[in-house]
Amino acid sequence: RTLEVDLGDRSYPIYIGGDLLEQAGAYFERHGLTKKSPVLIVTDTNVAPLHLQKVEVSLESSGYRTVHHIVEAGEPSKSLAVFEEVMTTAIESGLDRKSSVVALGGGVVGDLAGFVAASYMRGVNFIQMPTTILAHDSSVGGKVAVNHRLAKNMIGAFYQPEMVLYDVSSLQTLPDREVRAGLSEMVKHGLIWDQQFADWCGDHAGKLLSLNPEALEYGLIQGCGVKAKVVAADEREQGLRAILNLGHTLGHAIEATGGYGEYLHGEAISIGMAAAALIAVHRGREAAIYERTVELLQGFGLPTAMPVHLDEDQLISAMMHDKKFTENKIVFVLPVQIGKVEIVSDVTLDEVRRVIGELKGER
Ligand code: NAD
Ligand code: ZN
Repeated sequence: RTLEVDLGDRSYPIYIGGDLLEQAGAYFERHGLTKKSPVLIVTDTNVAPLHLQKVEVSLESSGYRTVHHIVEAGEPSKSLAVFEEVMTTAIESGLDRKSSVVALGGGVVGDLAGFVAASYMRGVNFIQMPTTILAHDSSVGGKVAVNHRLAKNMIGAFYQPEMVLYDVSSLQTLPDREVRAGLSEMVKHGLIWDQQFADWCGDHAGKLLSLNPEALEYGLIQGCGVKAKVVAADEREQGLRAILNLGHTLGHAIEATGGYGEYLHGEAISIGMAAAALIAVHRGREAAIYERTVELLQGFGLPTAMPVHLDEDQLISAMMHDKKFTENKIVFVLPVQIGKVEIVSDVTLDEVRRVIGELKGER
């Protein structure tokens, strides 16, 4: 199946299906990528032994020369130090302006390799080959970045890929916890845009959790579809794109307060989405919005209560550290109903403190 991300002359396709990594060479040819310039595949220490060879064999048998750079799995690889190491490999391997950089992995590899592709010789072809469910979010939209010691995603660019090759079969090797965390963003795409899709996610939680190929493919097509539509309408986050941040204001604070080791991103935003729904209810929306949000997320085994040991003041200050904060008021994405959200800029610290307290009382 093919989805198109509609961005004028920077439009690109997302191919979603089974066993696509084995066909990488054919997709490169279809996109007219030259065989004269080397291809750099960036991946990590978990993904390399599982999936790298398939891509290399396919590209090489189509006549492409490949080199690879394997980074340590995990968020710390999204750093300027690792960025420089990948650059060294690129230069030493003789990559030129017509070369492609392939991101084979999850969001960490995608963000890192994307920033390399954007920067090497002021920009070379970039190909996303996402291997996590979470990466259905990160591989679409063109945001690429590395972290600074003082702040996440601080150094980056908008850089659209040439194509996204999403091999659903590669997801079979994901650890359970990563599966759940990735599905959290899928549910988010339903909650912000499409009630039917949110309901579909709820009805198919079991199949999605057990990585049923048909369910996964459908869910990823819908999830990528929502992301693609939002990004096409607002590539550089002037307005609408901010709805993708549902659950992220508090979610980022939870991640930061937990020291980025305790909670996976998808787990943290799950709690954040429950919190946003509760704030909306306090502001007069139907209680059913909160109940349904929690029901959907819990159906995936995702957390919706605030961990009791997270300090309220620390959470608040982590949130204030975030850029969405002005004059004691915070910008929040709040549900209007299931499948529709609004961006409000006047959520007060008191409202946030209240939901933190209430959600600590939940299970
Ligand atoms: P990740 O890349 O760290 O992958 C999660 C874990 O799964 C890692 O240990 C990885 O080695 C392993 N893994 C990946 N694919 C596997 C497979 N097929 N089988 C077995 N193990 C596999 O993390 P992620 O959750 O994919 O992405 C998180 C990152 O994405 C964060 O850095 C976040 O900032 C970024 N992100 C970016 C955007 C964006 O728009 N650019 C959006 C959301 C998130
Ligand atoms: Zn996210």
